Order: sequence, then structure tokens, then C-alpha cells
Amino acid sequence: MKIAILPGDGIGPEIIEQAVKVLNTLGEKFEMETAPVGGAGYAAHGHPLPEGTLKLARQADAILFGSVGDWKYDTLERALRPEQAILGLRKNLNLFANLRPAILYPELAGASTLKPEIVSGLDILIIRELTGDIYFGQPRGMREAPDGPFKGAREGFDTMRYAEPEIRRIAHVAFQAAQKRGKRLTSVDKANVLETFQFWKDIVTDVHNEYPDVALDHMYVDNAAMQLVRAPKKFDVIVTGNMFGDILSDAAAMLTGSIGMLPSASLDANNKGLYEPSHGSAPDIAGKGIANPLATILSAAMMLRYSLNRAEQANRVETAVKKVLAQGLRTADIYEAGTTRVGTNEMGDAVVKALD
Ligand code: NAD
Repeated sequence: MKIAILPGDGIGPEIIEQAVKVLNTLGEKFEMETAPVGGAGYAAHGHPLPEGTLKLARQADAILFGSVGDWKYDTLERALRPEQAILGLRKNLNLFANLRPAILYPELAGASTLKPEIVSGLDILIIRELTGDIYFGQPRGMREAPDGPFKGAREGFDTMRYAEPEIRRIAHVAFQAAQKRGKRLTSVDKANVLETFQFWKDIVTDVHNEYPDVALDHMYVDNAAMQLVRAPKKFDVIVTGNMFGDILSDAAAMLTGSIGMLPSASLDANNKGLYEPSHGSAPDIAGKGIANPLATILSAAMMLRYSLNRAEQANRVETAVKKVLAQGLRTADIYEAGTTRVGTNEMGDAVVKALD
């Protein structure tokens, strides 16, 4: 099993170091190779996604990614900015399924802006289609309106479209993920208004025939947004398109109140994946040794489960994270009175220790 390690910028190297430490303690033989990406890629090879890094990512069974971005690269032309690396990897590796769990450990219930009884123990998974929908549909652009009540006026336009195979493959990922969890799947659409999402609903319903053990329901996106803040624990797995998923997954992430805790995975059709924390490179705290490494460690756990077929090891890592939280250890971002404040390294060491 080969893992490409791409630390990136800002806090990326610090948090990746902790996850690598955890992986090295599991007693498995993983081959790990590190390469520069983002601003670090630009500094080393003049491009945010250097050829050697992309080659390594292609060869590897899974990719563990830190984060990219640094203010000092903000003046570069768009194609050379660090953030282009992640878009390039998604596109080149055809990573169409974005998995974002939103988990709120009972010990951190106070971090949420919602009442603890609404969110404590929250454990949902949002699956967002990542390479289609209105974000990529053609044609798009700005022009003189060719028809309609504002004919002749300047207008902007985009195209929402989903092809049947695109919907089928994300539906399969979602049903299979639901099988590994609570066996309930909610497909979020806007079938009452949009043809694209009536089609989405029909195809997801058809794929359901292959997964009779999973309970499927459909929900309009406006209702889903409402339910996410009203009674989020009712959900198990949610699957939706690129745009709705973009918005809902950020809302769900914020239910937990702690960006330093949230892992993510982006998978291709063969479950090869890129795993990264949901947060960015946090340049404001980089190099201070205070970043929370748990989102990255939990991303490594997702990698063990989804790409490396090591579900037991994934459980081991997740249990170790729960243990350190129960011990009262907190990095600055999740600290509250009565707990013990620790740095990035100490948190990583504590997880390693808790593995036993
Ligand atoms: P950010 O997520 O980096 O930071 C937002 C806030 O959360 C900051 O105050 C930061 O200190 C804090 N924070 C983030 N992660 C933390 C952690 N693990 N522990 C403790 N605190 C943490 O978002 P931003 O400030 O908007 O963006 C900074 C840079 O990151 C930008 O260049 C942006 O483009 C990039 N970015 C990259 C990715 C990615 O690599 N996939 C994702 C989002 C943003």
C-alpha cells in the first residue's frame, strides 16, 4: 500500500506530521512518499501541482493532503496560486465523490452554536458530487440576453446538468457508505422546480433497487437546510449534487463548531481517494505549534477505511481520538475552562499513546 503524503503550506506540515506518526504506530507496512504541493510546490518547482507530485499522486493507493494557501502567494496569477493544486488533483484523478462527516463528540458539545441537546453526539455523513452540476456545465458566460423579458440586456448564465452515469456512480458511493453506517440515505434535490434534479431523483430511486438493505428518502434542499439546524441527528447519510452539497456540507460542518475536528475524503470510482482536513492552511497560526491535528488524524482514519480497506485500524484511530478528548486534552481552538490545553505535537503523541 503506497500513500502519497502532500503536506502543503501553513499548518499543513505540522498536522500531517502527527497523522504520519499515528499511521506509523499501527503496525502496518505502508510505503509513504512525500512531495511538495501548493505554495511549497510553487517554491520548489514553479507550479502548485508539480509534475512529480501529480505522478506520485497517480501512482499511490491514497493521498494524505495537509492544506494549501499562503498570503504571500495571493499576488500570483490565478493558475499559479496554491489553491489550484487541490482543484488540479480532483480533476486529474477524477475524484467525484466528496465525503464529509460531521461528528460532534459529546465532550465538545459546548463548541457548537446550537443547543447541546440538538447536536451532542451528532454523527452524519454528507456526500457531495464534486465534478459536475452547474459548477462545470457548459455553456456558461456573460452575454446580451437573446430572449426573455430582458432581451438585449447584459446577463450572466450557467448550465445545470447531470448525466445518468454521473448520478449512478455517486448514488452507488452513497448507498455503500450507508451500508457501512446506519443504513439510511437521504437524497437531497429540488425536483419540484428543476428538471436536472427530477432526473437525479429518478436515477437514485432506480439505484436503490440494488441496495434493499438501505432505507432511502428524498428531501428538497430548502427543507434539508432547515432540518439540518432543527434536528440534525435525524440524518445518517445525505447525498446531493455539487452546488447543494457545497452549501449543506459547510452548514453541517459548522454545527460542530470546531473546524479543527472535521476530516474529509474525495474518492474516485475505485475508492482511491484524497484525504484532507476540512479546514485551510491557517497561516495566522502556522509554525506556532498550536494547530489542532485531529481533523488530519481523522482524515487518515477515513483513508484506512475507504481506500486501504483497514476498517479495524480506522476504528482504532477514531477510538483513540475519542479517548484523548475524554482525557480532557484540548488544542487552543477547542479549549474550554476545566480542560487541559496542549499543543499540536502533544495532541499527536496523546493519540499515539491512546492507540494501545
Ligand atoms: P482556514 O481554515 O485556514 O482558517 C480559518 C480559521 O480557523 C483561522 O482562524 C485558523 O487559525 C483556524 N483554524 C483552521 N484550521 C485550524 C486547526 N487545525 N487548528 C486550529 N485552528 C484552525 O481558512 P482561511 O483563513 O479562510 O484560509 C487560509 C488559507 O487556506 C487560504 O489561502 C485559503 O485559500 C486556504 N484554504 C485551503 C484549503 C485546502 O487546502 N483544501 C481549504 C480552505 C482554505
